[in-house]
Amino acid sequence: MSTINHLMVLYSGGTIGMQGSDRGLVPAAGFDARLHERLAAESQRCMPPWRYRELSPPIDSANMNQQHWLAMRDAIVAAVEEDGCDAVLLLHGTDTLAYSAAALGFLLLGLGVPVVLTGAMLPADVPGSDAWDNLFGAVDALARGVAPGVHLYFGGRLLHGARATKLGSTTFGAFAELPRQRHGERAAALPAALDYRRIRQPVSLAVLPLFPGLQAAQLRALLGSGVQGLVLECYGSGTGPSDDAELLEALREARRRGTVLLGISQCPHGHVAFGTYAAGNALSEAGLLGGDGMTREAALGKLFALLGAGLSADETEHWLRQDLCGECADLPGASA
Ligand code: ASP
Repeated sequence: MSTINHLMVLYSGGTIGMQGSDRGLVPAAGFDARLHERLAAESQRCMPPWRYRELSPPIDSANMNQQHWLAMRDAIVAAVEEDGCDAVLLLHGTDTLAYSAAALGFLLLGLGVPVVLTGAMLPADVPGSDAWDNLFGAVDALARGVAPGVHLYFGGRLLHGARATKLGSTTFGAFAELPRQRHGERAAALPAALDYRRIRQPVSLAVLPLFPGLQAAQLRALLGSGVQGLVLECYGSGTGPSDDAELLEALREARRRGTVLLGISQCPHGHVAFGTYAAGNALSEAGLLGGDGMTREAALGKLFALLGAGLSADETEHWLRQDLCGECADLPGASA
C-alpha cells in the first residue's frame, strides 16, 4: 500500500449505494458507514489511509448533467489541493459512468494524480453484489500504482477514462474500451487554457446519430436551438446523406454561425476517415470536423471542456484535432 498516502473516496450516488423503494432503487446517502462496516467484517482487507466525502444529494447518474461534472471536478481538485490526497476513488452510477470518466479526463488535465471511477451493477447490500469487488479492486489497483489521469475500474479491469463505454445493462463486466483506431497527434504541450485550473461554464451541446430518413428540418431545428457544439454520429468511416443539399446547407449555416460540428463514427469499432467516400467528403466540406476514433463519451466531454473554457470555435477545432489525454491517439501506458 506504499503508493498511496491519502486516498479520497468520493461518493456521488449510483446503484452501488442504492436502496429499495416502492418505485424501485433510489440513491441513498451515507455510504461511508457501509464501507466502515464492510472493512470491520473483512479484517484482512487493507485500505490505505482514506477520507470520505459525498456529493449532496447523491444521485441516480441518469440525472447527471454538466453542473455535476463541474461539482465532481471541484471535489477532486479540493481533495488534492486542500486535503492533500494523492489518489481519488469516485463512486458513481454506471449509466453515465463512461461519460463522467471522459469529461473528467479533460477537466482534470495536468492535475497529476490518479483518479479512478467505479460503481456496481447491484447495490452493495444485495448478496452477490459486485460492489465490493469493484470498490476494493479499484483501491488495490491504485495501491499497485496507476498513472496520473482518469481511469475507470469495473469487473476486474482498469480502463482508460476517455475510451470506455458501457456495453451491458446487467452483466458485471459491463464496461469495455472499444477497439477504435486512433491516429491523432498528442498535443506537444498543454496550454493554460486547458489546464484543470481553468474555470468552465455550462454550454449547450447535443449528440445526434445519423439515421436513414433524417430530415434537414429536424437537423436545422436542433442546430437552431442554440447549441454551441454538436457531435454528429456518422455512418461507418464518416459518411452521411450527401445527396441532401438542404441538410448539408444546415450544417454549413451552423458552422458559419460558430457552432462546432464534430463527426464521429457510430460503429462501435469505427473511426472517421472522411476522404474514403465522396459522401464523407461532402460532410467535411459542409464544416464537419473529423473526430477520428473518439467515442461519443469522449467527444462530448472534450467539446464541453473546450467550449466550456470559453474557447472560440476555431480554437476549439484546433484542440479537437490534437490528442489531449489518449482519446484519439494510442499512447503506451495511458492506462497503467
Ligand atoms: N441508474 C443507475 C445509475 O446510473 C445505474 C447504476 O448505477 O448502475 O446511477
